[in-house]
Amino acid sequence: MTALASDKTRIVPGSWIDGAPVVTGGSLHRVVNPADGSVVAELALAQPADVDTAVAAARAALTGWSRAAPVERATVLAKLAELADAHAEQIIAEEVSQTGKPVRLAGEFDVPGSIDNIAFFAGAARHLEGKATAEYSGGHTSSIRREAVGVVATITPWNYPLQMAVWKVLPALAAGCSVVIKPAELTPLTTLTLARLATEAGLPDGVLNVLTGAGADVGSALAGHRDVDVVTFTGSTAVGRRVMAAAAVHGHRTQLELGGKAPFVVFDDADLDAAINGAVAGSLINTGQDCTAATRAIVARELYDDFVAGVGEVMGKVVVGDPQDPDTDLGPLISAAHRDKVAAMVARAPGEGGRIVTGGAAPDRPGSFYLPTLIADVAETSEVYRDEIFGPVLTVRAHDGDDDALRQANDTEYGLAASAWTRDVYRAQRASREISSGCVWINDHIPIISEMPHGGVGASGFGKDMSDYSFEEYLTIKHVMSDITGVAEKEWHRTIFKRR
Ligand code: NAD
Repeated sequence: MTALASDKTRIVPGSWIDGAPVVTGGSLHRVVNPADGSVVAELALAQPADVDTAVAAARAALTGWSRAAPVERATVLAKLAELADAHAEQIIAEEVSQTGKPVRLAGEFDVPGSIDNIAFFAGAARHLEGKATAEYSGGHTSSIRREAVGVVATITPWNYPLQMAVWKVLPALAAGCSVVIKPAELTPLTTLTLARLATEAGLPDGVLNVLTGAGADVGSALAGHRDVDVVTFTGSTAVGRRVMAAAAVHGHRTQLELGGKAPFVVFDDADLDAAINGAVAGSLINTGQDCTAATRAIVARELYDDFVAGVGEVMGKVVVGDPQDPDTDLGPLISAAHRDKVAAMVARAPGEGGRIVTGGAAPDRPGSFYLPTLIADVAETSEVYRDEIFGPVLTVRAHDGDDDALRQANDTEYGLAASAWTRDVYRAQRASREISSGCVWINDHIPIISEMPHGGVGASGFGKDMSDYSFEEYLTIKHVMSDITGVAEKEWHRTIFKRR
């Protein structure tokens, strides 16, 4: 057991079950600010037995919430958006201190984006409907009911803690499901705040429950729980496959948002300045800890040298520093262990032919920082080009024309996001059709909006977050077929028995 932290540390209950904060009996866990190693909060981790309690609370709350009129659900969720907006400063501060992300990113992207998403689903809760009712057989009226799938177990990562929680929780709540969420143990604070504000907004007790716990015990107990109905997950591909296997034991539905290795394809007619700026922003967002981050620039040979020089120059000007400082562009990686993993991958790159143009080292300061890094001339087979680095690292290769560019873009097991840079509408159309991924940006890389879906193909998973499409994960489709003839002996009965 860890000793209690000093009185400057915020001691918070690590779980939220049945509408109230709960101090579970697990070991004490410190949430650490990766920018300086300070302890942000200390909380008790949940244990596998707590999963039963949280799932039971969600099960008990399900009938009432799923049968509430859409306007009742919408009203609670709209109030949650209002409360989140009113507490935005506190949420931003929590997000910055537990992740180390720059305050400009948390304040202009994570938190307002999450609030917008909550507001979107508050509205969408009132628009759920089935397809038209009709008499397909001539003798029956068929109609479609879309019903809440039930209790949702969800597991989220540390890179965008609030946003990833909102993407999973809000469509589930809007659809009438109840939820048990396990955030990453490194970054549980804003998910706990979300649950507290939801209760304050009038969400009935038990509809949203949070368990802070380790993946190996609480996460796997939740994913494999008999009494949940669907398991949704955002995280790495390796863990996602374990989660799917655990859920499959009970035949439960899964939705998986997994890793990525996004191609950034620059055609020979591209606006070079736009592509250079896009590559730096797209690869460094959230210190590169973004599943859609640009990681594989595939650049027309004619533009290659200028692109590499331009990206290197802009990366060199990026301000690495204190996340609390509004002038900081790039914060630390999530932990020293993760920084060491990124550093080791970059260190192996020259051995596989990569040329480090800029970065390639940790700056001389405390905290788990790593410099913006550009690796040119990487081989198609090299580790930095094929595997997810999840750090501020962009790799570059040249291409020899459109066919080669698109072949290279698709030469990956992942398929989450991609971008194509061109002024030619036909090339843009071809790239958007032929690149295999859940999203293709044209002349931009990263923007997301609540109205449009996010989710991958291949090793990046399946199913959608955000937008009306995400409701498919949280609703079942029920066919109701009503006889409209009133006839006692139906025509089709002849196939089974003949009245003599
Ligand atoms: P991770 O897979 O290590 O952990 C994700 C979550 O799973 C955490 O809550 C963790 O505690 C839990 N977990 C770990 N082992 C488990 C187990 N055996 N059973 C159940 N749960 C378990 O991922 P991470 O390091 O937190 O996040 C980074 C990864 O997330 C990257 O691969 C990134 O690409 C991916 N990601 C994907 C998306 C997307 O939308 N596709 C979005 C964000 C992050």
